[in-house]
Amino acid sequence: MITYSKQTISSSDIQAVAKALRSDWLTTGPMVQKFENVVTSYVGARYAVAVANGTAALHAACFAAGIGKDDEVITTPYTFIATANSVLYQGGLVKFADISPDTLTIDASKIKTKITPKTKAIIAIDFSGLPADWDRLKTFAKSHKLTLISDAAHSLGASYHGRKVGTLADLSCFSFHPVKTITTGEGGMITTNNKRFYERLLVFRNHGITRKSMESTGSKQGIKGDKRPWFFEMKELGLNYRLTDIQCALGLSQMRHINAFLKKRRELAYRYHKLLEQLPHATLPREPQGYRSSWHLYPLRLDFKQLGKTKSQLFAFMARHGIKLQVHYIPVHLHPYYREHFGFKPGDFPIAEEAYDQEVSLPLYPTLTYSQQDKVIKLLKQFTTQ
Ligand SMILES: *Cc1c(COP(=O)(O)O)cnc(C)c1O
Repeated sequence: MITYSKQTISSSDIQAVAKALRSDWLTTGPMVQKFENVVTSYVGARYAVAVANGTAALHAACFAAGIGKDDEVITTPYTFIATANSVLYQGGLVKFADISPDTLTIDASKIKTKITPKTKAIIAIDFSGLPADWDRLKTFAKSHKLTLISDAAHSLGASYHGRKVGTLADLSCFSFHPVKTITTGEGGMITTNNKRFYERLLVFRNHGITRKSMESTGSKQGIKGDKRPWFFEMKELGLNYRLTDIQCALGLSQMRHINAFLKKRRELAYRYHKLLEQLPHATLPREPQGYRSSWHLYPLRLDFKQLGKTKSQLFAFMARHGIKLQVHYIPVHLHPYYREHFGFKPGDFPIAEEAYDQEVSLPLYPTLTYSQQDKVIKLLKQFTTQ
């Protein structure tokens, strides 16, 4: 079966995990910071905090940004539900802005009308690995004093005008789910250049615990002179969002292969570009000038109405030939929870809805062979022309 995505695990990855299992630390040990350090130096950020998954990374970023009850956060409905849910976890409200039909990322010109005195942050998604328009977003966020959060679940390794994703927003959130650029099974990370955000992320990851200050319980001394080595304080409501040493060992090992993974994804994406150029009623994904995608997805768009066929027919046809496609995304506002709680309805975000109607994610992962890819292409041609 050829799927839309899957992990690449080498024997050195397996050895790295086995070594972690034989060590003294299964969690909260030395692998965590090592993994964080490798990612910070890779993306060029000052700080990184490893967490349990990408959703936890987004939640922690909302916490660090100070999102609280009734604060508003602007994002797009054309994303995985976790992006918007992370705002709700903090008691905030989600304000959606539609995407640009060219890039499928948030349309910066549509954000303006969504701003109110309660707006605190923007979360932009680098859909399919293509960076959002970060310079425009940054200018906008600055002038309205908003925190800029990047849902970079797709875009580890992508860059924008020579700068790597992970440094373009105030807080950048990565996922290490098996389909993403690198994997730790489940896992996530937030990168930032802001020390205050970094410290808040560390506290949030570990139940809101701090060991630094004793003031509120009456101690005159800091932890150094304190005679109570067991002592700690909880000052904020955090969670257990820690990532294990076993997972960080896998992440560290995966980071050794990241450039090879990215190169292979790019090569396969360009091959799709070339070989699908003539596909009828198709729109191929493109990188605007200065953008370098990490090619997490190959989001082909087919105008099914023009074709006179349905997406379900395409899925059934491909499945009969052993190919399992995927769709990204069912717009968040169309999910029952969002409709029932916030009154969204079809037609609210027409560009995202049209993208959903047309989008099909083609198989794209580092171990996909040319002959497998050729089979996908041949079948697509057959489906669209017969
Ligand atoms: C994968 C993903 C997430 C969530 O990551 P998990 O690690 O699965 O929690 C969030 N946003 C987007 C856009 C994603 O693709």
